[in-house]
Amino acid sequence: MSDRPDPSRRLLVGGLTTGVAAALGAAGLGGRDATAATPAAPNPTTEYPKPPFQDQEQPWPGLASRMNPRPDHGETSYTGSGRLAGRRALLTGADSGIGRAAAIAFAREGADVAFNYLPQEEEDAREVVDLIRKAGRKAVPLPGDIRDKAFCRKLVADAARELGGLDILVNNAVYQKAAKSIDEISDEDFEQTFTTNVYAMFWITKAAMAHLQPGSAIVNTSSVNAYEPGESLIDYAATKAAIANFSKGLAKQLAPKGIRVNAVAPGPIWTPLQVSGGKLPHTLPHFGADTPMGRPGQPAELAGIYVLLASNEASYSTGQVFGAVGGRGGP
Ligand code: NAD
Ligand code: MG
Repeated sequence: MSDRPDPSRRLLVGGLTTGVAAALGAAGLGGRDATAATPAAPNPTTEYPKPPFQDQEQPWPGLASRMNPRPDHGETSYTGSGRLAGRRALLTGADSGIGRAAAIAFAREGADVAFNYLPQEEEDAREVVDLIRKAGRKAVPLPGDIRDKAFCRKLVADAARELGGLDILVNNAVYQKAAKSIDEISDEDFEQTFTTNVYAMFWITKAAMAHLQPGSAIVNTSSVNAYEPGESLIDYAATKAAIANFSKGLAKQLAPKGIRVNAVAPGPIWTPLQVSGGKLPHTLPHFGADTPMGRPGQPAELAGIYVLLASNEASYSTGQVFGAVGGRGGP
């Protein structure tokens, strides 16, 4: 499948027509009007919510729709340009947060999207289904618990059947529970963290190999914690290091097959994870304050990275870990 759709198609994908018209202003499609005001580039230090935030907690796994402020997943801002035209993507954890931002962007870039989430997250997932359909693409919601090996295999099979194949896999679901001390990490929590974050990634990726073809891409979500483990996230951080390492190794193995594997390493991002046990109690008001940007990122700010790594524009990038940490992080 070509990654270079014809220009007329590019304008039709994801409601770009309005976006382009607005961006071009009086100049329209005929060329640039030198006298028209050029819209200023958004300033990343003032564009998004900053600490202090209202302290808030939700029962795990949390809902984006109940957060204050609501995370920005690019619902009103992401404009596609056909960069994933005709692709078929499966994402985990895409009802909310970073996964939702990637799902919205993929659909607006022209991909059909299957995604997994937990049944408790149906409310958030419904919004994502609507957004994908409004972009004119097929949405395949596939709820279920990825700690179940058999479910992981069925998830991939269902996605491939409903989409007619699979070109993009995003392993993004996670369990993160903060604990002050190793004594407070129960064996059950440790197991849930590794099963969700590492084992399920292995089961899903292995099952996906039956469908991925040359030109396909896998994008795994790692974390800045892979390099700079937080002292209250030692189990989670270890899984994120495993994900980055697995991605690099698998990338070498799959390069000759023309399948790329990359990872994204976000820093503090405003998502339900952080209000449902992912942070120690009462630390949320200052979330992201210790980054050079002085604020957490919003999921929408990572969407373009997932699109780039999923698309053939990054055809010579594999085995890489792409950071988005507000000025810190990196190996
Ligand atoms: P999120 O809560 O929006 O997404 C996590 C998702 O994981 C949930 O929506 C849920 O659907 C899914 N999930 C959890 N357990 C599951 C299970 N057993 N079965 C099926 N699905 C399950 O949070 P997010 O921050 O967008 O997290 C997405 C990714 O980003 C994760 O891999 C996380 O480690 C990574 N990350 C987040 C941050 C951050 O600050 N938010 C920082 C670094 C990395
Ligand atoms: Mg969720």
